[in-house]
Amino acid sequence: MNPASCYETRNRVVAVPARLKDGISDMVRRRQLYEGKAKVLFEGPEPGTLVQHFKDETSAFNNQKRGTITGKGVINNRISEYLMTKLGNIGVPTHLMRRLNMREQLVRELEIIPVTVVVRNIVAGSLAERFGLTEGDPLPRSIVEFYHKSDELGNPLVVEEHITAFGWASTQELDEMISLSLRINDFLSGLFLGIGIKLVDFRLEYGRLWENDMLRIFLADEITPDSCRLWDLETNEKLDKDRFRRDLGGIEEAYQEVARRLGILLPDGESSDITGPTMVQ
Ligand code: UDP
Repeated sequence: MNPASCYETRNRVVAVPARLKDGISDMVRRRQLYEGKAKVLFEGPEPGTLVQHFKDETSAFNNQKRGTITGKGVINNRISEYLMTKLGNIGVPTHLMRRLNMREQLVRELEIIPVTVVVRNIVAGSLAERFGLTEGDPLPRSIVEFYHKSDELGNPLVVEEHITAFGWASTQELDEMISLSLRINDFLSGLFLGIGIKLVDFRLEYGRLWENDMLRIFLADEITPDSCRLWDLETNEKLDKDRFRRDLGGIEEAYQEVARRLGILLPDGESSDITGPTMVQ
């Protein structure tokens, strides 16, 4: 093996495929701040910045089901970049600064609000289960729900009173999160409709940042087929993480189809032949 393609970490040598070298060499040197199910956050090159790295790993049902979808990280990095850039263009403040490489983005470091927002247009998932509704039925109006971000507690559904009483967000911040989420829903619903996809529901995360003496709310995290339910307009075929949750197969193909319809060009093989660094003794 060519020594130039190895990186020595504390107790192992990691071989890095040539095409990944830039991203990985930075990864080895950077301080990891957080590792989640599908992403890793590293310290950014400048204060107030982070590097968000998209992995191929995935999980569902509060971590009870885990798997790897080859190339998912590469596709999600591009899809989230695309959608966040579009949202930025209509004035939605987002954490995205720029994409760095195939799997990474430079993002603003925010104080994350420990509440996720779910917007629903069509009955699916936990809404169908909780109220015994039929999956696929359109809702008479979009529903905004809040969940407390806590894996230990199973991310429980909460109401606005919990959020303000427990100091997770102020009333003004909550109002801002609701109005931004509805605006994002309108914009993304139209965007997806234009490419023959129904935006069934999706999850958003927000964070706060001081900007010129003003505390502002920014959209954080990701917008990808991991965090949205996307159904083909004609056939209702699922083009999202439900393919993994429900063992439907063809997951990478579905994510690629979303990218293709969005007009995101993934060079041949870019998403499919990346298996990450190979560990050698
Ligand atoms: N969602 C997510 N992460 C979670 C839970 C939900 O991204 O930890 C997304 C999910 O992909 C769907 C929406 O939020 O687009 C609503 O999910 P739901 O509450 O129906 O829960 P699920 O059925 O996914 O458990």
